Amino acid sequence: MGFFELDLSPEVLQAVSDAGYINPTPIQEKAIPHVRRGRDVLGCAQTGTGKTASFVLPMVDILAAGRTRARMPRTLILEPTRELATQVAASFELYGKYHRLTMALLIGGESFADQERKLDRGVDVLIATPGRLLDLYGRGKILLSDTRILVIDEADRMLDMGFIPDVEHIVGLLPDTRQTLLFSATMPAEIRKLADAFLRNPVEIAVAPPASPAATVIQSLILVDPQDKREALRRLIRSEDVKNALIFCNRKRDVDILFRSLTRHGFDAATLHGDMPQSKRTETLDRFRNGDIRLLVASDVAARGLDIEGLSHVFCFDVPAHAEDYVHRIGRTGRAGREGRSFMFATPQDGNAVVAIVKLIGKEIRSQIIEGIEAAELQYEDRRRGRSRRPARSGQRSSREAAAADRRPPAGESPRHNGHDTAGSNVMPFPGTPSARRARRAERKPEHDEPVIGFGDHLPAFLARPPRILARS
Ligand code: AMP
Repeated sequence: MGFFELDLSPEVLQAVSDAGYINPTPIQEKAIPHVRRGRDVLGCAQTGTGKTASFVLPMVDILAAGRTRARMPRTLILEPTRELATQVAASFELYGKYHRLTMALLIGGESFADQERKLDRGVDVLIATPGRLLDLYGRGKILLSDTRILVIDEADRMLDMGFIPDVEHIVGLLPDTRQTLLFSATMPAEIRKLADAFLRNPVEIAVAPPASPAATVIQSLILVDPQDKREALRRLIRSEDVKNALIFCNRKRDVDILFRSLTRHGFDAATLHGDMPQSKRTETLDRFRNGDIRLLVASDVAARGLDIEGLSHVFCFDVPAHAEDYVHRIGRTGRAGREGRSFMFATPQDGNAVVAIVKLIGKEIRSQIIEGIEAAELQYEDRRRGRSRRPARSGQRSSREAAAADRRPPAGESPRHNGHDTAGSNVMPFPGTPSARRARRAERKPEHDEPVIGFGDHLPAFLARPPRILARS
């Protein structure tokens, strides 16, 4: 299907063609005709699927008819982060370049005065984070009673960030007759409930996550002890052909610590996290995009939706607590068909978090050894029993493992081997994944003549007795 079949104006089609798009993505193909016809849409789609254009393109055409009034925005787009809001604003500029639409971006960290001036003049599109929007509403600077289209983008992210009460408050200020579009990467029960409350007879659209995650990202796992992480990262950056990289930490404090460590070692780095003033965040991102900075150490504020052209590497310095964040983090590279590399550093206690990621992405992650850094081993907490299962390190094998190893053919004779290969990498099956189950089944086979666990050497007499055939009465 071509864009011309989607009921878009010649001006929007020209803007799409200028952007270099040939065909609509699945979410665009499915959503645009419904948005154009005024239907409510519930879209299950992630960033990277072309989701933004799926609502911005038809909105540009809808807005082309009608006029703005002071302080009464005609459409409202809610975004969870300032970065995403800024990106959506850039999309409006790109796709609406042949229309004369007015837009205001209401995000924290920017001057109230500028934003109020724009609102006073009247805007077609308001793109806002919930907190700043409610601030301005509280000051009497906005009236939402004439807002005809509402977009709630990244609803699950809003939920994670605790914005849902603000969103509910905002929706209550809009007319009931509005058109509502709600997009979410996942559909937990809470989001379903919101959709039931906010949407009217919506068209439901779900598209697969972008090759979940991009097939063009080559992923690796580095198993290290915590004290070796920074050295391992430095070695990797030096040995890899890193053009530019995002390095994710779980906590803002660690972003700063890692940044200072990298600069002390002569690396060209900067930081990005939610506590920085917006002007500084925007400036840092611009410098990173322009290639003035090679390494950007960031919190998850940079994980979703950021589109940095040609990003060569993503390093997850910490294993993210939520498996989906891994997909978002590494999805910053390998975009638009380009090849990207990602490395995740995991310490022994990250075992369960790594398993959750492997389950989510449905494939194993190659583990890679870094020369001069001792490889650690993951521990898995058995949640049912509340006990930790620690795999023994080499040289500390349990007697069962030693016995099993004795039965295996010598290294080199076996087509399967468990050690790291000569290329410095191997594929680790993680517990719970289909390949891990296959590997366990295969390992169990030669062990059928082991003594029965639980009885020791003693064979209970009742098992040794020949079976008695009971006569029927
Ligand atoms: P999004 O999911 O909205 O964050 O979009 C991800 C990226 O896909 C952005 O860089 C868009 O410019 C790009 N994009 C959106 N629609 C298309 C399309 N139809 N063809 C090619 N690229 C697209």
